[in-house]
Amino acid sequence: MQAPVVGVLALQGAFALHVRALERLGSVAVEVRTPPELAGVDGLVLPGGESTTMSKLLDANGLFEPVAERLAEGMPALGTCAGMILLAREVLDGRADQRSFGAVDITVRRNAFGRQVDSFEADLEVAGLPEAPVHAVFIRAPVVEDVGPGVEVLAQVDGGRPVACRQGRVLVTSFHPELSPDLRVHELFLRELAA
Ligand code: GLN
Repeated sequence: MQAPVVGVLALQGAFALHVRALERLGSVAVEVRTPPELAGVDGLVLPGGESTTMSKLLDANGLFEPVAERLAEGMPALGTCAGMILLAREVLDGRADQRSFGAVDITVRRNAFGRQVDSFEADLEVAGLPEAPVHAVFIRAPVVEDVGPGVEVLAQVDGGRPVACRQGRVLVTSFHPELSPDLRVHELFLRELAA
């Protein structure tokens, strides 16, 4: 079997380190900016950055509908921070014209971690990664305010706020796993791709 090709949405934000993380794990990773580039990938990483800008650029590049279609067909995806916002069903405190894919049945609120709104770090127990806690970096991170019945919560902070969730083949994190040398969150996603 040919190795899966992993796309990283590269319209804006922290895409370069995702490409590097995937390559370090032995994957073929390609930057995605156009519909033909999307057509060539088996899964997609939606990075952190600015979800309002990415939403606009997805429309401007004719990528919003093609990505939505691939997600509806079951394409595996990993969304981190702004990427989580883009994959959520509902976005609070967004721009009025901000769009999201609704691939994960969660409601997120942008930039809402209370006094820790700018950035903080935490060691997380992540379901499926029992060996050691995952060191997670949060940067103006979204808060998950509501989780639908089909969503599995993989990690929490503050005794119960979800910061990593999975629904079907889509994995989302409030934090930035590409900023840590620990690549196990990317590995979880690649396991989904291989399945
Ligand atoms: N606050 C950003 C947004 O709303 C997300 C921040 C990030 O991706 N680090 O899109």
